[in-house]
Amino acid sequence: MGPVGPTPDAERLRQNLSTMTFDAPMPEDEVVDFLSRGLRCGAVRTDHPRYFGLLHQAPMENAVAAAALVAAHNPQLAVRSHAPFAVDVEDHLVRMFGERFGYDRAELGGTLTSGGAEANATALFAALADKCPAWAERGVRALAGDPKIYVSVEAHPTVMRAARLAGLGTAAVRVVPVDRAHRMKIPALKDLLRRDVAEGAWPFMVVATAGTTSAGGVDDLAAIAAVARGFGAWLHVDAAWGGLLALVPEHAPRLTGIAEADSIAFDPHKTCSVPLGCGMLLTRRPSSLARAFHDHAGYMPKNAARDPYARSMTWSRRFAGAPLFAVLASLGWGGLAERVRGQIRVGDVLKATLRESGWNLLVDTPLPVACFVDATQEGGDHGAFLGAVARRVTSSGEGWLSLTRFSNGARALRACVTHAGTTGGDVEAFVRALDGARAAAREGAS
Ligand SMILES: *Cc1c(COP(=O)(O)O)cnc(C)c1O
Repeated sequence: MGPVGPTPDAERLRQNLSTMTFDAPMPEDEVVDFLSRGLRCGAVRTDHPRYFGLLHQAPMENAVAAAALVAAHNPQLAVRSHAPFAVDVEDHLVRMFGERFGYDRAELGGTLTSGGAEANATALFAALADKCPAWAERGVRALAGDPKIYVSVEAHPTVMRAARLAGLGTAAVRVVPVDRAHRMKIPALKDLLRRDVAEGAWPFMVVATAGTTSAGGVDDLAAIAAVARGFGAWLHVDAAWGGLLALVPEHAPRLTGIAEADSIAFDPHKTCSVPLGCGMLLTRRPSSLARAFHDHAGYMPKNAARDPYARSMTWSRRFAGAPLFAVLASLGWGGLAERVRGQIRVGDVLKATLRESGWNLLVDTPLPVACFVDATQEGGDHGAFLGAVARRVTSSGEGWLSLTRFSNGARALRACVTHAGTTGGDVEAFVRALDGARAAAREGAS
Protein backbone atom coordinates (compact mmCIF):
# COMPACT_ATOMS: atom_id res chain seq x y z
CA MET A 1 0.00 0.00 0.00
CA GLY A 2 2.91 2.36 -0.64
CA PRO A 3 5.37 4.01 1.73
CA VAL A 4 4.51 4.66 5.38
CA GLY A 5 5.93 8.16 5.65
CA PRO A 6 5.17 11.40 3.76
CA THR A 7 6.31 11.32 0.11
CA PRO A 8 7.94 14.06 -2.01
CA ASP A 9 4.47 14.87 -3.40
CA ALA A 10 3.68 16.35 -0.01
CA GLU A 11 6.16 19.16 -0.63
CA ARG A 12 4.52 19.97 -3.97
CA LEU A 13 1.10 20.10 -2.35
CA ARG A 14 2.45 22.36 0.37
CA GLN A 15 3.66 24.77 -2.31
CA ASN A 16 0.28 24.61 -4.06
CA LEU A 17 -1.39 25.38 -0.76
CA SER A 18 0.72 28.44 -0.13
CA THR A 19 -0.45 29.93 -3.47
CA MET A 20 -4.16 29.36 -2.74
CA THR A 21 -5.82 32.67 -1.92
CA PHE A 22 -9.43 31.49 -2.23
CA ASP A 23 -10.28 34.51 -4.38
CA ALA A 24 -11.91 32.28 -6.97
CA PRO A 25 -13.91 29.13 -6.24
CA MET A 26 -12.25 25.81 -7.02
CA PRO A 27 -14.24 23.03 -8.78
CA GLU A 28 -15.70 20.58 -6.28
CA ASP A 29 -13.87 17.50 -7.59
CA GLU A 30 -10.53 19.33 -7.48
CA VAL A 31 -11.19 20.27 -3.86
CA VAL A 32 -11.82 16.66 -2.91
CA ASP A 33 -8.88 15.48 -4.98
CA PHE A 34 -6.53 17.98 -3.34
CA LEU A 35 -7.60 16.98 0.17
CA SER A 36 -7.46 13.31 -0.61
CA ARG A 37 -4.00 13.47 -2.21
CA GLY A 38 -2.75 15.59 0.66
CA LEU A 39 -4.01 13.15 3.26
CA ARG A 40 -2.57 10.20 1.37
CA CYS A 41 0.93 11.48 0.76
CA GLY A 42 1.33 14.28 3.30
CA ALA A 43 1.17 12.37 6.57
CA VAL A 44 2.58 9.35 8.29
CA ARG A 45 0.20 6.55 7.36
CA THR A 46 -1.22 5.41 10.68
CA ASP A 47 -3.41 3.07 8.62
CA HIS A 48 -0.34 1.21 7.32
CA PRO A 49 0.51 -2.25 8.76
CA ARG A 50 4.17 -1.21 9.00
CA TYR A 51 3.41 1.87 11.06
CA PHE A 52 5.13 0.92 14.34
CA GLY A 53 4.18 4.21 15.78
CA LEU A 54 2.79 6.53 18.31
CA LEU A 55 -0.27 4.58 19.41
CA HIS A 56 -2.77 5.80 16.84
CA GLN A 57 -4.54 3.20 14.82
CA ALA A 58 -6.13 2.35 11.53
CA PRO A 59 -9.84 2.87 12.13
CA MET A 60 -12.22 0.07 11.17
CA GLU A 61 -14.35 0.82 8.13
CA ASN A 62 -17.60 0.86 10.07
CA ALA A 63 -16.07 3.35 12.50
CA VAL A 64 -15.24 5.65 9.58
CA ALA A 65 -18.78 5.24 8.26
CA ALA A 66 -20.18 6.06 11.71
CA ALA A 67 -18.02 9.20 11.90
CA ALA A 68 -19.31 10.34 8.50
CA LEU A 69 -22.91 9.60 9.51
CA VAL A 70 -22.42 11.69 12.64
CA ALA A 71 -20.98 14.56 10.61
CA ALA A 72 -24.00 14.45 8.30
CA HIS A 73 -26.60 14.44 11.11
CA ASN A 74 -24.49 16.64 13.38
CA PRO A 75 -26.23 16.04 16.72
CA GLN A 76 -25.19 18.45 19.45
CA LEU A 77 -24.21 16.82 22.74
CA ALA A 78 -24.32 19.61 25.27
CA VAL A 79 -27.78 18.86 26.66
CA ARG A 80 -29.47 15.48 26.58
CA SER A 81 -32.87 16.79 25.48
CA HIS A 82 -31.28 17.99 22.23
CA ALA A 83 -29.87 14.61 21.20
CA PRO A 84 -31.15 11.96 23.64
CA PHE A 85 -30.18 8.99 21.46
CA ALA A 86 -26.55 10.05 21.11
CA VAL A 87 -26.23 10.88 24.81
CA ASP A 88 -27.79 7.55 25.77
CA VAL A 89 -25.37 5.66 23.51
CA GLU A 90 -22.38 7.43 25.07
CA ASP A 91 -23.68 6.92 28.61
CA HIS A 92 -24.19 3.25 27.85
CA LEU A 93 -20.62 2.97 26.52
CA VAL A 94 -19.29 4.72 29.64
CA ARG A 95 -21.15 2.20 31.82
CA MET A 96 -19.99 -0.79 29.77
CA PHE A 97 -16.33 0.27 29.73
CA GLY A 98 -16.52 1.24 33.42
CA GLU A 99 -17.67 -2.28 34.21
CA ARG A 100 -14.80 -3.72 32.15
CA PHE A 101 -12.44 -1.92 34.50
CA GLY A 102 -14.29 -3.40 37.49
CA TYR A 103 -16.40 -0.41 38.52
CA ASP A 104 -19.84 -0.98 40.02
CA ARG A 105 -22.47 -0.08 37.45
CA ALA A 106 -24.68 1.56 40.07
CA GLU A 107 -22.12 4.18 41.08
CA LEU A 108 -19.95 4.79 38.02
CA GLY A 109 -20.14 7.74 35.67
CA GLY A 110 -17.94 9.66 33.32
CA THR A 111 -17.72 11.38 30.00
CA LEU A 112 -16.21 10.96 26.59
CA THR A 113 -13.27 13.27 25.95
CA SER A 114 -11.16 14.37 23.01
CA GLY A 115 -8.41 12.06 24.29
CA GLY A 116 -6.16 11.25 27.21
CA ALA A 117 -4.96 14.82 27.71
CA GLU A 118 -8.48 16.07 28.36
CA ALA A 119 -9.29 13.00 30.47
CA ASN A 120 -6.28 13.62 32.74
CA ALA A 121 -7.19 17.30 33.15
CA THR A 122 -10.81 16.36 33.87
CA ALA A 123 -9.59 13.98 36.59
CA LEU A 124 -7.48 16.71 38.19
CA PHE A 125 -10.46 19.10 38.36
CA ALA A 126 -12.68 16.33 39.73
CA ALA A 127 -10.08 15.54 42.40
CA LEU A 128 -9.90 19.18 43.47
CA ALA A 129 -13.69 19.47 43.63
CA ASP A 130 -13.92 16.24 45.62
CA LYS A 131 -11.12 16.78 48.10
CA CYS A 132 -11.80 20.48 48.65
CA PRO A 133 -15.49 21.35 48.19
CA ALA A 134 -14.76 25.08 48.64
CA TRP A 135 -12.33 25.02 45.70
CA ALA A 136 -15.10 25.53 43.12
CA GLU A 137 -15.83 28.95 44.59
CA ARG A 138 -12.61 30.07 46.22
CA GLY A 139 -10.11 28.32 43.97
CA VAL A 140 -6.62 27.63 45.26
CA ARG A 141 -7.22 30.03 48.17
CA ALA A 142 -9.42 27.33 49.70
CA LEU A 143 -6.82 24.54 49.69
CA ALA A 144 -5.77 23.06 53.02
CA GLY A 145 -2.04 23.47 52.33
CA ASP A 146 0.51 23.42 49.56
CA PRO A 147 -1.17 21.06 47.02
CA LYS A 148 0.78 18.00 45.86
CA ILE A 149 0.16 15.48 43.06
CA TYR A 150 2.31 12.35 42.70
CA VAL A 151 3.25 10.81 39.35
CA SER A 152 6.02 8.58 38.09
CA VAL A 153 8.85 10.17 36.18
CA GLU A 154 7.69 8.28 33.07
CA ALA A 155 4.08 9.51 33.40
CA HIS A 156 2.50 11.46 30.56
CA PRO A 157 3.36 15.19 30.54
CA THR A 158 -0.32 16.11 30.31
CA VAL A 159 -0.53 15.61 34.09
CA MET A 160 2.08 18.34 34.49
CA ARG A 161 0.21 20.51 32.01
CA ALA A 162 -3.09 20.04 33.85
CA ALA A 163 -1.43 21.15 37.11
CA ARG A 164 -0.08 24.23 35.35
CA LEU A 165 -3.41 25.14 33.78
CA ALA A 166 -5.32 24.49 37.01
CA GLY A 167 -3.25 27.22 38.64
CA LEU A 168 -1.41 24.80 40.94
CA GLY A 169 1.83 25.13 38.99
CA THR A 170 4.18 22.37 37.97
CA ALA A 171 5.86 22.64 41.37
CA ALA A 172 2.76 20.91 42.74
CA VAL A 173 3.73 17.76 40.84
CA ARG A 174 6.02 15.40 42.76
CA VAL A 175 7.92 13.12 40.44
CA VAL A 176 8.58 9.59 41.69
CA PRO A 177 11.40 7.46 40.23
CA VAL A 178 10.72 4.20 38.37
CA ASP A 179 12.25 0.73 38.44
CA ARG A 180 13.74 -1.11 35.44
CA ALA A 181 10.28 -1.98 34.12
CA HIS A 182 9.30 1.72 34.29
CA ARG A 183 6.97 1.15 37.25
CA MET A 184 6.66 3.78 39.96
CA LYS A 185 8.82 2.85 42.98
CA ILE A 186 6.38 2.39 45.84
CA PRO A 187 8.83 3.00 48.73
CA ALA A 188 9.90 6.27 47.06
CA LEU A 189 6.25 7.30 46.71
CA LYS A 190 5.64 6.62 50.41
CA ASP A 191 8.78 8.55 51.43
CA LEU A 192 7.79 11.60 49.42
CA LEU A 193 4.26 11.54 50.81
CA ARG A 194 5.45 11.23 54.40
CA ARG A 195 7.96 14.03 53.97
CA ASP A 196 5.40 16.33 52.35
CA VAL A 197 2.81 15.68 55.04
CA ALA A 198 5.42 16.35 57.74
CA GLU A 199 6.09 19.69 56.07
CA GLY A 200 2.40 20.60 56.11
CA ALA A 201 1.71 20.05 52.40
CA TRP A 202 -1.66 18.79 51.11
CA PRO A 203 -1.24 15.59 49.05
CA PHE A 204 -4.59 15.33 47.33
CA MET A 205 -3.94 13.22 44.24
CA VAL A 206 -1.85 10.26 43.09
CA VAL A 207 -1.66 9.46 39.38
CA ALA A 208 -0.65 5.92 38.49
CA THR A 209 0.18 5.01 34.91
CA ALA A 210 -1.01 1.81 33.25
CA GLY A 211 1.16 1.78 30.15
CA THR A 212 3.76 4.54 29.99
CA THR A 213 3.79 6.10 26.56
CA SER A 214 7.44 5.41 25.77
CA ALA A 215 8.00 1.91 27.03
CA GLY A 216 4.71 0.47 28.30
CA GLY A 217 5.51 0.39 32.02
CA VAL A 218 2.49 -0.68 34.07
CA ASP A 219 2.46 0.58 37.65
CA ASP A 220 1.54 -1.71 40.54
CA LEU A 221 -1.97 -0.33 40.81
CA ALA A 222 -3.06 -2.29 43.89
CA ALA A 223 -0.02 -1.14 45.86
CA ILE A 224 -0.45 2.48 44.79
CA ALA A 225 -4.17 2.32 45.62
CA ALA A 226 -3.32 1.25 49.17
CA VAL A 227 -0.85 4.11 49.57
CA ALA A 228 -3.23 6.72 48.12
CA ARG A 229 -6.02 5.50 50.39
CA GLY A 230 -3.73 5.73 53.42
CA PHE A 231 -3.11 9.40 52.70
CA GLY A 232 -6.70 10.20 51.71
CA ALA A 233 -5.65 11.16 48.19
CA TRP A 234 -7.70 10.82 44.99
CA LEU A 235 -6.28 8.01 42.86
CA HIS A 236 -6.34 8.54 39.10
CA VAL A 237 -5.08 5.82 36.78
CA ASP A 238 -3.87 7.01 33.40
CA ALA A 239 -4.68 3.92 31.36
CA ALA A 240 -4.98 5.88 28.13
CA TRP A 241 -3.12 3.19 26.25
CA GLY A 242 -2.46 0.32 28.70
CA GLY A 243 -6.18 0.08 29.40
CA LEU A 244 -6.25 -2.23 26.40
CA LEU A 245 -5.14 -4.99 28.80
CA ALA A 246 -8.59 -4.81 30.43
CA LEU A 247 -10.15 -5.82 27.11
CA VAL A 248 -8.39 -9.21 27.04
CA PRO A 249 -9.44 -11.52 29.90
CA GLU A 250 -6.08 -13.30 30.23
CA HIS A 251 -4.19 -9.97 30.38
CA ALA A 252 -6.66 -8.10 32.61
CA PRO A 253 -5.00 -9.29 35.88
CA ARG A 254 -2.07 -7.00 34.96
CA LEU A 255 -4.37 -4.14 35.95
CA THR A 256 -5.42 -5.58 39.31
CA GLY A 257 -6.33 -2.73 41.62
CA ILE A 258 -7.60 -0.42 38.89
CA ALA A 259 -11.19 -0.67 40.17
CA GLU A 260 -10.04 1.02 43.37
CA ALA A 261 -9.14 4.17 41.44
CA ASP A 262 -11.40 7.18 41.84
CA SER A 263 -10.97 7.86 38.13
CA ILE A 264 -9.52 6.23 35.03
CA ALA A 265 -8.42 7.73 31.70
CA PHE A 266 -8.83 5.43 28.72
CA ASP A 267 -8.32 6.17 25.02
CA PRO A 268 -10.47 4.13 22.62
CA HIS A 269 -8.69 5.99 19.81
CA LYS A 270 -5.49 4.14 20.75
CA THR A 271 -7.03 0.78 21.50
CA CYS A 272 -10.36 0.20 19.77
CA SER A 273 -9.71 1.02 16.09
CA VAL A 274 -11.74 4.25 16.04
CA PRO A 275 -10.69 7.59 14.52
CA LEU A 276 -8.96 10.22 16.67
CA GLY A 277 -11.04 12.26 19.05
CA CYS A 278 -12.35 9.47 21.27
CA GLY A 279 -11.08 9.35 24.85
CA MET A 280 -12.87 8.58 28.09
CA LEU A 281 -12.84 9.63 31.70
CA LEU A 282 -14.45 7.08 33.97
CA THR A 283 -15.09 7.66 37.66
CA ARG A 284 -16.81 6.03 40.59
CA ARG A 285 -17.45 9.47 42.05
CA PRO A 286 -19.49 11.14 39.31
CA SER A 287 -20.82 13.84 41.65
CA SER A 288 -17.30 15.33 41.63
CA LEU A 289 -17.58 15.95 37.91
CA ALA A 290 -20.80 17.87 38.44
CA ARG A 291 -19.17 19.92 41.18
CA ALA A 292 -16.28 20.84 38.92
CA PHE A 293 -18.13 21.46 35.66
CA HIS A 294 -21.73 22.47 36.28
CA ASP A 295 -22.38 26.06 35.14
CA HIS A 296 -25.64 27.94 34.90
CA ALA A 297 -26.88 29.60 31.77
CA GLY A 298 -30.36 30.94 31.19
CA TYR A 299 -30.80 28.95 28.00
CA MET A 300 -29.69 25.61 29.48
CA PRO A 301 -31.92 23.23 31.47
CA LYS A 302 -32.13 23.83 35.23
CA ASN A 303 -31.69 20.19 36.16
CA ALA A 304 -28.49 19.18 34.36
CA ALA A 305 -28.01 15.78 36.00
CA ARG A 306 -27.99 13.97 32.64
CA ASP A 307 -26.47 16.70 30.49
CA PRO A 308 -22.98 16.10 29.12
CA TYR A 309 -21.93 19.77 29.33
CA ALA A 310 -22.40 19.66 33.12
CA ARG A 311 -19.79 16.93 33.61
CA SER A 312 -17.19 17.73 30.99
CA MET A 313 -14.68 20.39 29.97
CA THR A 314 -16.49 20.86 26.65
CA TRP A 315 -19.82 22.49 25.85
CA SER A 316 -21.17 21.74 22.36
CA ARG A 317 -19.49 18.69 20.99
CA ARG A 318 -19.91 15.99 18.42
CA PHE A 319 -21.11 12.43 18.95
CA ALA A 320 -17.68 10.91 19.54
CA GLY A 321 -19.14 7.65 20.80
CA ALA A 322 -20.73 6.59 17.50
CA PRO A 323 -17.58 5.06 15.94
CA LEU A 324 -16.84 3.26 19.20
CA PHE A 325 -20.40 1.95 19.32
CA ALA A 326 -20.01 0.71 15.72
CA VAL A 327 -16.80 -1.19 16.50
CA LEU A 328 -17.96 -2.70 19.78
CA ALA A 329 -21.42 -3.64 18.52
CA SER A 330 -20.09 -5.27 15.37
CA LEU A 331 -17.21 -7.17 17.01
CA GLY A 332 -18.61 -7.81 20.46
CA TRP A 333 -16.24 -7.89 23.46
CA GLY A 334 -14.89 -11.23 22.21
CA GLY A 335 -14.03 -9.86 18.77
CA LEU A 336 -12.45 -6.71 20.21
CA ALA A 337 -10.40 -8.88 22.61
CA GLU A 338 -9.23 -11.00 19.69
CA ARG A 339 -8.06 -7.89 17.82
CA VAL A 340 -6.09 -6.62 20.81
CA ARG A 341 -4.78 -10.11 21.60
CA GLY A 342 -3.50 -10.32 18.03
CA GLN A 343 -1.55 -7.08 18.46
CA ILE A 344 -0.02 -8.32 21.71
CA ARG A 345 0.96 -11.57 19.99
CA VAL A 346 2.57 -9.74 17.06
CA GLY A 347 4.30 -7.49 19.62
CA ASP A 348 5.85 -10.62 21.16
CA VAL A 349 7.04 -11.73 17.70
CA LEU A 350 8.56 -8.26 17.18
CA LYS A 351 10.42 -8.46 20.51
CA ALA A 352 11.75 -11.97 19.76
CA THR A 353 12.81 -11.05 16.21
CA LEU A 354 14.64 -7.95 17.43
CA ARG A 355 16.50 -9.97 20.07
CA GLU A 356 17.53 -12.58 17.49
CA SER A 357 18.94 -9.78 15.33
CA GLY A 358 21.17 -8.41 18.06
CA TRP A 359 18.97 -5.60 19.32
CA ASN A 360 18.84 -5.16 23.07
CA LEU A 361 15.38 -4.57 24.57
CA LEU A 362 15.58 -2.11 27.45
CA VAL A 363 12.23 -2.41 29.24
CA ASP A 364 10.09 -5.44 30.01
CA THR A 365 6.40 -4.81 29.29
CA PRO A 366 3.24 -6.83 28.63
CA LEU A 367 2.23 -4.23 26.01
CA PRO A 368 3.10 -4.55 22.32
CA VAL A 369 5.95 -2.02 22.34
CA ALA A 370 9.71 -2.48 22.11
CA CYS A 371 12.32 0.08 23.16
CA PHE A 372 15.71 -1.08 21.96
CA VAL A 373 19.33 -0.25 21.15
CA ASP A 374 21.97 -1.98 19.06
CA ALA A 375 23.82 -4.58 21.13
CA THR A 376 26.27 -5.59 18.39
CA GLN A 377 28.68 -2.69 18.67
CA GLU A 378 30.23 -0.03 20.86
CA GLY A 379 28.09 3.12 20.71
CA GLY A 380 24.99 1.22 19.62
CA ASP A 381 23.00 3.13 22.21
CA HIS A 382 24.09 6.62 21.17
CA GLY A 383 21.30 8.99 20.23
CA ALA A 384 22.98 10.14 16.99
CA PHE A 385 23.45 6.56 15.79
CA LEU A 386 19.93 5.49 16.71
CA GLY A 387 18.53 8.62 15.08
CA ALA A 388 20.38 7.78 11.86
CA VAL A 389 18.91 4.25 11.93
CA ALA A 390 15.36 5.56 12.47
CA ARG A 391 15.72 8.14 9.69
CA ARG A 392 16.96 5.53 7.23
CA VAL A 393 14.06 3.19 7.94
CA THR A 394 11.36 5.85 7.86
CA SER A 395 12.73 7.57 4.74
CA SER A 396 12.91 4.21 2.93
CA GLY A 397 9.15 3.93 3.44
CA GLU A 398 9.66 0.33 4.68
CA GLY A 399 8.28 1.11 8.08
CA TRP A 400 7.86 3.88 10.60
CA LEU A 401 9.30 4.01 14.09
CA SER A 402 10.38 6.70 16.51
CA LEU A 403 13.28 7.62 18.73
CA THR A 404 12.53 8.14 22.39
CA ARG A 405 14.35 9.46 25.44
CA PHE A 406 13.73 8.06 28.90
CA SER A 407 13.72 10.20 32.02
CA ASN A 408 17.24 8.97 32.86
CA GLY A 409 18.50 10.40 29.57
CA ALA A 410 18.88 7.04 27.80
CA ARG A 411 17.88 7.00 24.14
CA ALA A 412 16.14 4.10 22.43
CA LEU A 413 14.43 3.20 19.20
CA ARG A 414 10.75 2.64 19.82
CA ALA A 415 8.48 0.37 17.79
CA CYS A 416 4.88 -0.23 18.77
CA VAL A 417 2.32 -2.53 17.18
CA THR A 418 -0.82 -0.44 16.74
CA HIS A 419 -2.34 -1.91 13.60
CA ALA A 420 -4.68 -4.90 13.84
CA GLY A 421 -3.51 -6.04 10.39
CA THR A 422 0.23 -6.13 11.14
CA THR A 423 1.48 -9.67 10.50
CA GLY A 424 4.58 -11.69 11.33
CA GLY A 425 5.67 -11.01 7.73
CA ASP A 426 5.46 -7.24 8.30
CA VAL A 427 7.55 -7.64 11.44
CA GLU A 428 10.14 -9.71 9.58
CA ALA A 429 10.45 -7.13 6.78
CA PHE A 430 10.60 -4.28 9.27
CA VAL A 431 13.39 -5.86 11.32
CA ARG A 432 15.34 -6.63 8.09
CA ALA A 433 15.00 -2.92 7.22
CA LEU A 434 16.31 -2.04 10.68
CA ASP A 435 19.24 -4.44 10.28
CA GLY A 436 20.07 -2.88 6.91
CA ALA A 437 19.83 0.63 8.33
CA ARG A 438 22.11 -0.39 11.19
CA ALA A 439 24.76 -1.64 8.76
CA ALA A 440 24.46 1.48 6.61
CA ALA A 441 24.56 3.84 9.60
CA ARG A 442 27.63 2.04 10.93
CA GLU A 443 29.36 2.42 7.58
CA GLY A 444 28.34 6.06 7.37
CA ALA A 445 29.86 6.64 10.79
CA SER A 446 33.23 4.97 10.07
C1 LIG B 1 -1.46 9.15 24.64
C2 LIG B 1 -1.44 9.31 26.09
C3 LIG B 1 -1.98 10.45 26.69
C4 LIG B 1 -2.52 11.60 25.88
O1 LIG B 1 -3.66 11.20 25.21
P1 LIG B 1 -4.23 11.95 23.91
O2 LIG B 1 -5.29 11.02 23.47
O3 LIG B 1 -3.10 12.09 22.95
O4 LIG B 1 -4.76 13.26 24.36
C5 LIG B 1 -2.00 10.50 28.07
N1 LIG B 1 -1.48 9.50 28.80
C6 LIG B 1 -0.94 8.40 28.25
C7 LIG B 1 -0.37 7.33 29.14
C8 LIG B 1 -0.89 8.27 26.88
O5 LIG B 1 -0.33 7.18 26.33
